[in-house]
Amino acid sequence: MRQQIAAANWKMNLTIGQAEKLLDDILSVDWALKPWQQVVLAVPAPYLYPAVQKWKASGQSQVSISAQNCYSEKSGAYTGETSAEMLASLVVTHVIIGHSERREIFHETNALLAKKVDIALSFNLTPIFCCGEPLSIREAGTQNAFVAKQLEESLYHLDAETIQKLVIAYEPIWAIGTGKTATSEQAQEMHHYLRSVLAHKYGAAVAGRVSILYGGSVKAANAQELFSQPDVDGGLVGGASLIHKEFDAIIRALK
Ligand code: PEP
Repeated sequence: MRQQIAAANWKMNLTIGQAEKLLDDILSVDWALKPWQQVVLAVPAPYLYPAVQKWKASGQSQVSISAQNCYSEKSGAYTGETSAEMLASLVVTHVIIGHSERREIFHETNALLAKKVDIALSFNLTPIFCCGEPLSIREAGTQNAFVAKQLEESLYHLDAETIQKLVIAYEPIWAIGTGKTATSEQAQEMHHYLRSVLAHKYGAAVAGRVSILYGGSVKAANAQELFSQPDVDGGLVGGASLIHKEFDAIIRALK
């Protein structure tokens, strides 16, 4: 059974006091998750260390702490950047790579993201690799080719064993932070397509083991319907993950 994941992306939000309160709220709950279900918290970089400390103290074995980004080089003169090695040394286990905000605001290319995926994997971090099309591409009806190219240019150098170590998050850009969610049919259609693209490259068995999360205005009110789709293995959640009650309900919506 592939992993089902409720992943929170806090982005650049919250003060340390607010972050600690939210961590305490989340980590104090027992959701009675199944062995194949997992909660991942992608907190801002300065809060990774306190988050790991709180997570360790909580004994929550099905919660993992994630970074929101890492740099593509091992170490050196890259002022302001965070390395994969630093994350691994903190016992951070996941890192979001290729979020559309990184692609759009910081001009991260598919080629750079391929390097980030490699360095993350080399330190045993699980990349949560984001892909997804802007509105113009969706309106032109060319979203499948667009997203397939993102996978091809950033992931296809990986072999069949390694690709299974990744989590993929399909996040249509027009649905991120807009309140405009893809319908569960649109999400399923794209997730099914992505799995077929992976199957074509790596075989159906391998594709069947890769978790594909949906991201884009997931909230308590729509999580269950989205997660009930056969190829939707959970969600990457921005805004709603900052509200404990909302995110708690999203975790409980894992199937
Ligand atoms: C995200 O940040 O990845 C995201 C999907 O944001 P939101 O849930 O706010 O749309």
